[in-house]
Amino acid sequence: MTTIAFIGLGNMGNPMAANLVKAGFSVHGFDLVPENLKIAQGNGVTVMANALAAVKDADAVVTMLPAGKHVLSVHENIAAAMKKGALLIDSSTIDVESARKAHAIAQKHGLLSVDAPVSGGTGGATAGTLTFMAGGSKEAFAAAEPVLKPMAGRIVHCGEAGAGQAAKICNNMILGISMIGVSEAFVLAEKLGLSHQALFDVASTSSGQCWSITSYCPVPGPVPASPANRDYKPGFAASLMLKDLKLAQEAAQASGAVTPLGAEAAQLYALFAAMGHGDRDFSGIVEFLRGR
Ligand code: NAD
Repeated sequence: MTTIAFIGLGNMGNPMAANLVKAGFSVHGFDLVPENLKIAQGNGVTVMANALAAVKDADAVVTMLPAGKHVLSVHENIAAAMKKGALLIDSSTIDVESARKAHAIAQKHGLLSVDAPVSGGTGGATAGTLTFMAGGSKEAFAAAEPVLKPMAGRIVHCGEAGAGQAAKICNNMILGISMIGVSEAFVLAEKLGLSHQALFDVASTSSGQCWSITSYCPVPGPVPASPANRDYKPGFAASLMLKDLKLAQEAAQASGAVTPLGAEAAQLYALFAAMGHGDRDFSGIVEFLRGR
């Protein structure tokens, strides 16, 4: 049986590790928070005393941590203790530069490595239907696929080191901008006396069509499953959207890309979060645009 170490058993990591257990892997887990370890144990994860103990016998290690600084510090700590030729997968959402540094750490210690951030949120993590965006060599990707599969609906090899993180922040920049655009259109429709349903019926089947309207409509009614129908309970929290938009802006500045709408979206979500709405769904930005 392949042994997988899972480090970072939070909102995403715990259900992901549970799906690896269900698929028949032996999973050795570690997190700094005892409460999260208790949940992991209940899911069949073998809880270890620290990260080094968790990775010692592992054929593959998955990290699911808050940000680049946590990933680099954990990877620097564990790389030398891992089996030679083992696989190191980071599924956290982090900046492209840190992702490339994590690959360099792995390479230095003779490990295969993949950056494989996800979209699909805690719902997708629980259902095992996450989309993985992977960056790394062909060999590393081939080794990662069977590990990612029990957690995935879709796995896309996006290119070399850092390409997974690049795809993730580009996609979420589109999402942040499009959600604001769709929300502005609904606010304008309200002022013009046009019903939500009428705008939805037209825009969802014409040139305004996009995921933010057809699957995640920011006003209640037209798409019953969208967070607008449950007072913007996430879903995908505005604070996480802000994190991804900030990563996109850092990358744009570092690479010289011109992204004025991405910058504006980051500012609007920063304001929304500063007003105390960081833990609401990101589609709640429509209320902010109404001046509420
Ligand atoms: P979380 O805060 O719930 O989990 C992170 C976990 O890492 C925590 O349990 C924390 O204790 C642990 N941790 C931190 N430093 C550690 C260390 N040194 N050693 C061991 N454990 C450590 O966050 P989350 O929602 O699970 O998100 C994890 C990552 O996934 C983030 O990068 C996030 O941006 C990304 N992500 C989250 C979602 C979502 O909907 N929650 C969706 C897509 C991507």
